[in-house]
Amino acid sequence: MLYDALFYEKLNKKVNCFLCPHHCLISEGKFGLCSVRTNAGGTLKTINYGEVTAIALDPIEKKPLYHFESGSKILSVGSFGCNFSCGFCQNYSIAHHRAESKYYAPHELVDIIISIKDNIGIAFTYNEPSIWYEYVYDTSKLLKEKHPEFKVILVTNGYIEKEPLARLLPYVDAMNIDLKSFSQNFYKKECRGDLGSVKRTIEAAYDKCHVEITTLLIGGLNDFMKEIEEIAAYLGSLDKNIPLHLSRYFPHYKMDRPPTDISVMIKARDIAKEYLDYVYLGNV
Ligand code: SF4
Repeated sequence: MLYDALFYEKLNKKVNCFLCPHHCLISEGKFGLCSVRTNAGGTLKTINYGEVTAIALDPIEKKPLYHFESGSKILSVGSFGCNFSCGFCQNYSIAHHRAESKYYAPHELVDIIISIKDNIGIAFTYNEPSIWYEYVYDTSKLLKEKHPEFKVILVTNGYIEKEPLARLLPYVDAMNIDLKSFSQNFYKKECRGDLGSVKRTIEAAYDKCHVEITTLLIGGLNDFMKEIEEIAAYLGSLDKNIPLHLSRYFPHYKMDRPPTDISVMIKARDIAKEYLDYVYLGNV
């Protein structure tokens, strides 16, 4: 289904999307870099509104969130599409392909969220939540207006423009934001993104909702102690209580480097703990 998208301008017969910092200029019949927003007759449409590819009740620690509603479970949903192109993507089958999906209107998903025993809310995860922004926004707003006791969580790469983020944040309780590296070159080469935009998202969010950060450490690419120190010092300068999850890389998708050394993971944690009160290792 084609659904009206937000955040764009018409330019002759093209459309300029401002949802994320890519600012794609899209010709008639073509798609943006995320493969889910398209120029249909001179207007911007999204093809994944309400299209759910994965749905499961997960422990909150799996997001990972260790300092928010510990021990609880949360309904987790994802769609398809992503605005990054990481060769090490852990969810490439839905991030970069149009996977089989089932449509749920926002009110249908809200009904499911509140009907599940012991569920604390909804986590938009598996693929990049900002890439089905209109649906995430509508569903989060509806849930918070009708059932404010339920939580909304985003597990995100943080690559979203200021205005859409500001509009969504009042309905968000917690975020896990990937800070994939502290090198602009890494973001550009490995993800087709940029570090500054992700930092801007962290800075906009960390004092508005609960925020935890995840960094996947990939041997030889971003597991340098200097870089880990920069990440930890940066987060510590915002708030020493921001939890940092250092996750161990395993070969995935297009990347076949060997798994990151355990000794490097441990050393990275020790360095990060000089700046932050809570540093965790994942996948070890
Ligand atoms: S959301 Fe998609 S179409 Fe819009 S700027 Fe980002 S990648 Fe391009």
